[in-house]
Amino acid sequence: LEEKPLDFIRQIVAEDLQSGKHKTTITRFPPEPNGFLHIGHAKSICLNFGIAEENKARNARCHLRFDDTNPSKEETVYVQSIQNDVKWLGYDWGENLFFASDYFDQLHEFAIQLIKMGKAYVCDLSADEIRNYRGTLTEPGKESPYRNRSIEENLDLFLRMTNGEFADGSRVLRAKIDMASPNLNMRDPVIYRIMKTDHHRTGDKWCIYPMYDYTHCLSDMLEGITHSLCTLEFEDHRPLYDWVLDELETPCHPRQIEFARLNLTYTVMSKRKLLQLVNEKYVDGWDDPRMLTISGLRRRGYTPESIRDFCQTIGMGKKSSWIDMGVLEKAIRDDLDPKAPRMMCVLNPVKLIIDNYPEGTIEMMEAQNHPKNPEMGSRQLPFGRELYIERDDFMEDPPKKFHRLGPGREVRLRYGYLVTCVSYDKDETTGEITTIHCTYDPATKGGSAPDGRKVKGTIHWVSAEKGIDCPVRLYDRLFTAEFPDAEKGVDFKEYLNPQSKVVLEHAKAEPALAELEPGKQVQFERTGYFCADYVESETGKPVFNRIVTLRDSWAK
Ligand code: ATP
Ligand code: MG
Ligand code: MG
Repeated sequence: LEEKPLDFIRQIVAEDLQSGKHKTTITRFPPEPNGFLHIGHAKSICLNFGIAEENKARNARCHLRFDDTNPSKEETVYVQSIQNDVKWLGYDWGENLFFASDYFDQLHEFAIQLIKMGKAYVCDLSADEIRNYRGTLTEPGKESPYRNRSIEENLDLFLRMTNGEFADGSRVLRAKIDMASPNLNMRDPVIYRIMKTDHHRTGDKWCIYPMYDYTHCLSDMLEGITHSLCTLEFEDHRPLYDWVLDELETPCHPRQIEFARLNLTYTVMSKRKLLQLVNEKYVDGWDDPRMLTISGLRRRGYTPESIRDFCQTIGMGKKSSWIDMGVLEKAIRDDLDPKAPRMMCVLNPVKLIIDNYPEGTIEMMEAQNHPKNPEMGSRQLPFGRELYIERDDFMEDPPKKFHRLGPGREVRLRYGYLVTCVSYDKDETTGEITTIHCTYDPATKGGSAPDGRKVKGTIHWVSAEKGIDCPVRLYDRLFTAEFPDAEKGVDFKEYLNPQSKVVLEHAKAEPALAELEPGKQVQFERTGYFCADYVESETGKPVFNRIVTLRDSWAK
């Protein structure tokens, strides 16, 4: 096994163990249950749960914590889907399932403590006023006229906020830090707001809710997190994270470390935009196979291994950068290549009749399940006089380099015989080829000619009598632009790929594919990796999703 150097986060973790600063490592993955997880979250999951897994010998662990402090956007369905997705990726939080909402009482106590220390005050400015008073990067902020309320008045007002005496938005609790700080996050940030909204877990118990920055550090502290790993945009929030814990002199002070978030080309990643695609029906739900959500990828046919490998490949950087979608697609190809059985399915069928093959005869051909791995065995493939082949594999007037079928040309039918095209029928009004007539050479069973003559092309086929009808969805990238949400003033939906889902209703598959378990991956020879869709397939009647083509057709 090739030894990769540790990334900068794992280095810090290792140093802290070595120096004895920590006896073990406790990380957490803290999603907000306001949407489904996407491939960006997978990076954070693989990092946090990965570190715990690697330090198992020291009883390291990773908590799954729902950051559920904004009841207006959060729902129980998301809590469920997030748990499913983390499990499916192969990680286990054991007993360490937490909710920030479980800490609401303690967070409230801490707020009272800050008020008593003169470090927090109730402010009556409106949200707009607070923003205006905050100033800008080049201009210091202005102190709120409510900043110097007495501790008694602050305590009284905060308790009345808690009791629901005031309207939404009329008052907030703010930390009293420094309105001249060069860091805007330190200019008296809001730590509690009034919001008379039921919470998916605490119901109507609370009508004030703590803000993310205030909640996060305290939740980490309460759980004894050693390393709190988050994405770069929180770098400027770290002073506030540390301020809260320092002021409260908490016994434990986790270390926040930031890493670059995953940015992938040809997609959008923010939950807000994904939600928009779902709500406005540009896709068929959160688990649409074109969505870069974990559930979309799973339904598309991605394996957990491929996603973990992908996260490993992209590594852990301190600077934000873009990863090409091709890297993710390569990860699933690399994972499936050695393990997906090869089978035959004709996507756009045209009838082929072997004129000299006996009528009413079905012959069983032996087909390898994986040409590079004999251990995967073989299966019996019915062959007969009437077959379907791919429309694209025939040309009326082919150029010399076309190694497939054309008038007078000979081709190999995979695991079948060599056949030569003798004629074809055409619908004169549409110009469409309706039937191709061939003769076969009975001496070439299995595909090789005893006289040693060379036949360059090999094509796939399905018995017309024994094959099954199967709808196929050819999925492709959801956006045609590399950076769909990069351009200011242009709606990212302008770049949706009209060809991202091509539905083929008349595909023909070899009979063994009727039994393919939904969710299981196969390679359709010559056309790509597919799986039976576990939502739309019925017993014996699979509907196939294309996971990925065999080669990258987007590479520049
Ligand atoms: P989004 O902006 O897509 O809504 P979020 O950061 O608001 O994402 P959370 O539920 O808060 O979503 O994220 C949970 C964890 O996953 C956080 O620690 C966050 O930093 C991490 N995360 C989210 N998106 C990415 C990404 N693209 N790359 C790496 N980590 C991410
Ligand atoms: Mg967030
Ligand atoms: Mg978000």
